[in-house]
Amino acid sequence: MACAKYGCLKCKYEEVKRGNREEYVEVLVCPKCHGALVDQYRTAKYIGGIDYVAGKNINALLIIELDNETAVPKVFYKGEQVKHLRDVDFEWNTETDVVMGKLNIDIENVDTSGDKPVIKRTGVSKC
Ligand SMILES: [Zn+2]
Repeated sequence: MACAKYGCLKCKYEEVKRGNREEYVEVLVCPKCHGALVDQYRTAKYIGGIDYVAGKNINALLIIELDNETAVPKVFYKGEQVKHLRDVDFEWNTETDVVMGKLNIDIENVDTSGDKPVIKRTGVSKC
């Protein structure tokens, strides 16, 4: 038996739900206003800020986590985890340490959502 406290993002209605872990969902429909009734620990995911469960700033453009020198990095771009990584390039430099000189983010992964796997590139390049 698990317990989660939910809060409505629209009308601030609160409710505690009990049930099996298999039945858990992050978002329900608010019975008062039909807005989003969100698990209190996941609220930031829907309104911005820090996701306290995952410990991440979900508004960050890029998060790269590398547990050790041989680990596969975990990459989050625009709040979404990029899975099936092939290549990750991150370059940032400046001459003044105040004004951005160059930014290059290039993430290559295999998209397996379709019938056939497709190589996808994501990122941004600014000089
Ligand atoms: Zn509501």
